[in-house]
Amino acid sequence: MPDSFDVIVVGAGLAGSACALILARNGVRVCVCERGAWPGEKSLSGMILYGRPLADLIPAFWKDAPVERAITRRRFSVLSRDSEVALDLRFEEFSHEPHNYTFSVLRSRFDRWFARQAAEAGATVFTEALVENLLWEGQQVAGVQLRGGVCLGANVVVSCEGTNAFLVEKAGLRDPYSPRKVAVGVKEVLALSREVLQERFGLEGTEGVAMEFFGQSVKGLVGSAFLYTNQDTLSVGLSCSVESLIAGGIPPAELLAQFKQHPSVRRWVRGGERVEYGAQMIPEGGYYGIPLLVRDGFMVCGSAAGFVGGTFYHEGSSMALLSGRLAAETILDARRQGNYTARVLKSYVRRLKRSPVIEDLRAQRHLSAWCHQSPRFFKEYPDLAVELLRDYFTLSEKSKVETHRGVVRKFQARVGWIRGLWDFWRFRKVMFGR
Ligand SMILES: Cc1cc2nc3c(=O)[nH]c(=O)nc-3n(C[C@H](O)[C@H](O)[C@H](O)COP(=O)(O)OP(=O)(O)OC[C@H]3O[C@@H](n4cnc5c(N)ncnc54)[C@H](O)[C@@H]3O)c2cc1C
Repeated sequence: MPDSFDVIVVGAGLAGSACALILARNGVRVCVCERGAWPGEKSLSGMILYGRPLADLIPAFWKDAPVERAITRRRFSVLSRDSEVALDLRFEEFSHEPHNYTFSVLRSRFDRWFARQAAEAGATVFTEALVENLLWEGQQVAGVQLRGGVCLGANVVVSCEGTNAFLVEKAGLRDPYSPRKVAVGVKEVLALSREVLQERFGLEGTEGVAMEFFGQSVKGLVGSAFLYTNQDTLSVGLSCSVESLIAGGIPPAELLAQFKQHPSVRRWVRGGERVEYGAQMIPEGGYYGIPLLVRDGFMVCGSAAGFVGGTFYHEGSSMALLSGRLAAETILDARRQGNYTARVLKSYVRRLKRSPVIEDLRAQRHLSAWCHQSPRFFKEYPDLAVELLRDYFTLSEKSKVETHRGVVRKFQARVGWIRGLWDFWRFRKVMFGR
């Protein structure tokens, strides 16, 4: 008979630690199995933590957690081959607590801290514990088998394994990903002194900036690049859909090297010494990529469930935290009833449907397909936007009135008002669902 717990959580990422923390606080015997030597060792992400759901679990978490910087400035830009057009936002309120709950973090530090909160609440956290198989009692999942053969039994196993969730496949809840439904992210951490960062990015105190780059940042493929300031490092990376990468024929590492050389980007990263590099998958299927989420004795949370919002930049942290919490609350109900079958665990799906997780994914349900069907949004329009604005601001012998007319004529010739308005309308619809 294997050692047994009430609940086994697979993966000490954001979803896993959120779930384990709530269960442990409620006296549930919960164990977390994490394959890394420490939580966060195997995690790679940007990353900007959208931490509103975390504040519900640990109020004012930023005072204790190893956050890097409070994100007070956000910058969205499109790159052409050598130029850039940007929208730069800075809100003074975000300089003050709770800082819009948005922070840059490094996962190797943050996940370790978060898992420790769960452990201090009573969860057992096993590291170097790679779950290889599910254990079954008839049709019900009854535990896990670790590499090395150790078996652990439980009433419920919660998959918080991240994108590469093969237990979800083993439970028969999802088929393997198709190239359109998954993206590859590559990221580097570059060391730069705090003084250089403050000066270069115009930052005061613990302020930070998050930059997202579209268009030629990824050579017009379906994806985007990013640059985030940490305390004394920069996170710089990109992600592209696998289908688009195959079609483009450029390896992601090469794309990242070219991105860093772009005239508008190289000034930000100049002198940064690479201290970390990695690649990871990101689910991109959106609403239609969500697998079945429960079966008898088994539940799925976070990236394992495909809960990552927006194809333009990836906002998965809040969805991971929230889904981990909703799974824990469902398990507490099931425990009261002494019934862990899918019939009872299904209330997790109902909770999700009432939450921003499903509401937002549903609103953007056509986004993933639209991105692949509308390549002009990734190449033609960014290039054109930069060209038209460059024309407008280029001084010449022409009057301003004539320059303005020239820009309008070029837009009319290259896009046309009807196609432009139609594309804008479609874009608004796939982004906001109305
Ligand atoms: C390059 C990149 C940039 C991103 N940027 C952002 C961003 O800026 N903001 C944002 O909100 N989101 C971002 N995301 C998405 C975000 O990282 C995910 O949404 C989030 O990490 C999901 O959390 P999770 O807990 O579900 O899974 P993960 O964070 O992936 O955690 C899964 C954990 O499970 C462990 N594990 C996996 N398999 C097993 C196994 N079989 N046995 C034991 N342990 C296992 C892993 O080691 C890991 O610790 C980014 C993703 C990438 C790849």
